[in-house]
Amino acid sequence: MIITIDGPSGTGKSTVAKKVAEKLGFTYFDTGAMFRTIAYGILINRIDYTNHELLTHFLQTAELSLKIHQNKIHFYLNCVDVTDHLRTAEVTSLSSKISTIKAIRDKLSQLQRDLVKGISAVFEGRDMGTVIFPNAETKIFLTAEPTVRAKRRYNELVAKDVTFAQTHSFEKTLQDIQERDERDENREIAPLKAAKDAHLIDTSNLSIDEVVERIIFLVKS
Ligand code: C5P
Repeated sequence: MIITIDGPSGTGKSTVAKKVAEKLGFTYFDTGAMFRTIAYGILINRIDYTNHELLTHFLQTAELSLKIHQNKIHFYLNCVDVTDHLRTAEVTSLSSKISTIKAIRDKLSQLQRDLVKGISAVFEGRDMGTVIFPNAETKIFLTAEPTVRAKRRYNELVAKDVTFAQTHSFEKTLQDIQERDERDENREIAPLKAAKDAHLIDTSNLSIDEVVERIIFLVKS
């Protein structure tokens, strides 16, 4: 069985998807982290991703894999665990830019479809219900007001690094989120949108547990 959870950033997708998977005993896959892994590889290898030849060579030689350690998924690039490097501002910004490139989406689509063979899973991303798993049993699309999403993201980043507030304003976080959403919604391939048969949940005024409960109810019914 496959459950897809899509939506823009700051809607609580990752936390909700993880909890839903835990409650149902399913495997949880964060597909944004896969785009982040490729972005990190491009950054550390200083690849000019606008150069088709260089990018093709990188994608042919870059081996992306996932392993579960103590209940947490770790992301590997050419056998090196890169999980702790995926949440920097640089990786966040680059992952959004490179997600418009067809060769990158093709590589990750293949991986995502291979992962699901023989298991029940919750896949979280932007195009899970529309493009990758159009036949998923339950599709969820989360939304929330832009200011609520930016506030959540800002608080999350401050909680991780107390110096964040000294160098970044809330307005800048809001602007970054809006830029990323616009890119995701307007790209030609696999744009961010709700599948026709997705259940829409506005999380602006809901707690994580309330969203999880609603999804579990939808899955069971
Ligand atoms: O979800 P997260 O913010 O970690 O995703 C990083 C970036 O990867 C997003 O900004 C989005 O552009 C891209 N992405 C995507 N399709 C997915 C998951 C993420 O284009 N299925």
